[in-house]
Amino acid sequence: MKRIVSMLLCVAMLCTLSCWAMAETVFTPGTYEGEGTGFQGPIKVSVTVSDTAIEQIQVLEQSETAGISDPAFEKIPALILEHQSVAVDAVAGCTNSSRGLIEAVKAALLAAGATEEMISKEIAAQEAGELETQTADVVIIGAGGAGMTAAVEALRAGGSVLIVEKMAAVGGNTIAAGSALNAAGSDIQKTGTMAASGVEAIEEKLALEPQCDAMKRWQESVRQDLDAYIASGSNQVFDTPDLHKLQTYVDGDYVGKPELIEILCDNAPKALTFLEDLGMSWKPQITTAVGATWSRSHQPANVFGGAGSDFVLPQYEFVKANGGVVALEHKAEELMVEDGRVVGVKGVASNGTPFEFRANKSVILATGGFSANVEMRMKYNKFWANLDETVPTSNQPCATGDGITMAEAIGANLYGMEWIQMVPAGDASLNASIANEMYINADGNRFIAEDERRDVLSGAILAQPGSFCWKVSSAYQAWDIQGGYDYKGNPIESLVANGKAVVGDTLDELAQAMGVNADNLKAAALAFDKAVAGEEPDALGRKVFEYKMDKGPYYATKSYAKVHHTMGGVEINTDCQVLDTQGNVIPGLYACGEVTGGIHGSNRLGGNAIADIIVFGQIAGQNAMK
Ligand code: ADP
Repeated sequence: MKRIVSMLLCVAMLCTLSCWAMAETVFTPGTYEGEGTGFQGPIKVSVTVSDTAIEQIQVLEQSETAGISDPAFEKIPALILEHQSVAVDAVAGCTNSSRGLIEAVKAALLAAGATEEMISKEIAAQEAGELETQTADVVIIGAGGAGMTAAVEALRAGGSVLIVEKMAAVGGNTIAAGSALNAAGSDIQKTGTMAASGVEAIEEKLALEPQCDAMKRWQESVRQDLDAYIASGSNQVFDTPDLHKLQTYVDGDYVGKPELIEILCDNAPKALTFLEDLGMSWKPQITTAVGATWSRSHQPANVFGGAGSDFVLPQYEFVKANGGVVALEHKAEELMVEDGRVVGVKGVASNGTPFEFRANKSVILATGGFSANVEMRMKYNKFWANLDETVPTSNQPCATGDGITMAEAIGANLYGMEWIQMVPAGDASLNASIANEMYINADGNRFIAEDERRDVLSGAILAQPGSFCWKVSSAYQAWDIQGGYDYKGNPIESLVANGKAVVGDTLDELAQAMGVNADNLKAAALAFDKAVAGEEPDALGRKVFEYKMDKGPYYATKSYAKVHHTMGGVEINTDCQVLDTQGNVIPGLYACGEVTGGIHGSNRLGGNAIADIIVFGQIAGQNAMK
């Protein structure tokens, strides 16, 4: 089932301005339909033409990812109408949607009798303007989740805010996120149950030799709370902020900074209410994000359009309503420093116009990570055998590490740059959670405990035949929890229709659709269900279980190891001030989100990034106004 969008771009006015473009007869007047292929599937348009001009473009049908593809649907039809040409550039960040849309319009115009040459007139490059200058109390570089959150807090503190964003739309990589927000102890989490194996998983962490005072303290506090939990006979999910800290630290291989982990996990529950106060809400079930290793991942209820949108658009609505300014298509290139203090940022807009934006109080770097920058990831990678351009990324093209480069150029210290995360991800992933997923290889067998860390999962997938796996889930996840949508808000049926997922009412049917051995798949599901019920321990050592594999229809999507998150970045203190290579604060400069290093150690828990951008975004925004 496709999402039907009726977007009428009207163009009477645009046309009077631009219909000079074609003087002689080009089209047979009328309305024509055309189709192109977007990222998620077909894009259908109808185009109305007079004998000399393109007059109106209407999108009839598309199933592109909401939020991410929006700039394409806003800009491409308007540009084609303005220039009377389909030789327009794709919008950065939604290239596939743009191309599909252009292809669809082109098909309609060819059907209207035009030749390719007539409708592909070259578009003159825009002329650069004079130096653009603006001043605000706080200048934030990057309109993703961290930057938008910082903007909310700076506005609440009474400041004026200017956000500099290089892409054509806000949202950054956050808007494409499929994850959830990890927080310990919420009411939602209390609705979940825990298998007995969960206690074993905690005991393993408590038995570890403490590597620092903070870890010892966390272990002692968890011991006490766990004993009380066991004595109570409860089967609710056990959790405390200190368990969250312990898992974050241990699964980050003891190289995350305890003082930052402390802040992250103590404040994560407040991140839930921060978003709720801005109009967002949560699914009523707790889940376990891929690599979260624990059932504390809160999934958005898709109020703002899909998993990632719900983590950034609530803030954006607030920013717009409270006078925050966003300068889109402005790429920051250099931090301005005067007398040792960061006072603003210089850069160039997409039309070539240079800009200098000054901050009365502070500049906040919120430019995200560098997963999409092959040069940087190859420069810093020490862990993976290969991270060259043949290795895909799950990230948006904006994740090029610009903030890290800009900060380093003025003496900022970089922390943990070699820690680069890969995650199992497909072109479509039905679930943001492993709660009800089996990872199945080409032979139809499970091969790894799905509640493992992301580096372990990715390494195991790379070692499978063909270096891929199928993520198989049952109807509990797809329908009971997600209501028939994937976590990005796409209807599951459209993913199936477009070949991005396969379905089977039974495991036999699913195995056939996947092309794997049905007996192996059924045996895997049977053993999985026994482990869920606590009848037999899981042979692969999985401990986090929620739903069985006993309810069809079953779904499967192909998944690969993709570069997903860069744990390293600029070093910050607990106030989000950026530190230089001597450990001193760089006056006037704050940082938050994936651009920073030191919070997640060598391996980030799934679901901790969303907690990070909200918690540290708030701190940066508040302190930047002090
Ligand atoms: P986080 O999760 O840390 O918020 P995101 O990737 O969601 O990170 O957001 C980072 C944002 O910063 C993106 O929107 C990206 O386009 C923007 N950005 C990155 N580099 C620059 C730059 N040089 N100038 C302006 N914006 C930038």
